Amino acid sequence: MSSGGSKDSKTDSTASSQQVVVGDVTKPGGLTPIKSAQDKRSYRVVELPTNKLQVVLIHDPETDKAAAAMDVNVGHFSDPDMTPGLAHFLEHMLFLGTTKYPDENSYSAYLNSHGGHSNAYTSMENTNYYFDVTHPHLEGALDRFAQFFTSPLFTPSATDREMNAVHNENAKNLQCMYFIYFFWSCVPS
Ligand SMILES: [Zn+2]
Repeated sequence: MSSGGSKDSKTDSTASSQQVVVGDVTKPGGLTPIKSAQDKRSYRVVELPTNKLQVVLIHDPETDKAAAAMDVNVGHFSDPDMTPGLAHFLEHMLFLGTTKYPDENSYSAYLNSHGGHSNAYTSMENTNYYFDVTHPHLEGALDRFAQFFTSPLFTPSATDREMNAVHNENAKNLQCMYFIYFFWSCVPS
C-alpha cells in the first residue's frame, strides 16, 4: 500500500450524440457522462439514495474481471500536526477485519481464491481503495469491501502492528528520496 483520480461530468444538451450528457445523478437512470468516441464502454453516474454516495458504473463486455474502487476525499494533508501519517494508518487499518468479517485475512483470502487482488494508496487529498475479481464473485467482494467504510474493527493488535508498518514505509520512502537525489533512481518497496 502506498502513500503518495478524479471524475467529472456536466450537462450539455448542445453536444454531439457522442458527448451528450442525459439524466439526473439523483434519479434511477443517473447521468451518462461525456466520453471519447473511441471508448466502447458504457458509463452511468448515479447517487445512492440512502447515503448520497456518487457512483460511476462502467460496463465493458470484453474485460475478463470485475473491479471496484472507492475514493475517500481525505488524504495526508488532513493529518493533524500531532499525528502525521494518520490518513495512511487508517488506510491500512480498514483492511484488517470488520464486524461482519472479523478475520483479518477474510478480504484478501476471498479475492485470492477468486482470481483477484487489491491495494490502496493515500495521496495528498484523497485515499483510494480498489480491487478486481472474477465476475461471479463481484457481489461477495463488494460486500466485504463495503464493510471497510461502515464497521472496521480497529483491533489493538492490528493498531500496534500497522503503526509500525506505516512508520517503516515512511522511513523507506525517505531513504528512497535520498537515492533519487544522489543517484537518480530508486525502486520503492
Ligand atoms: Zn502503506
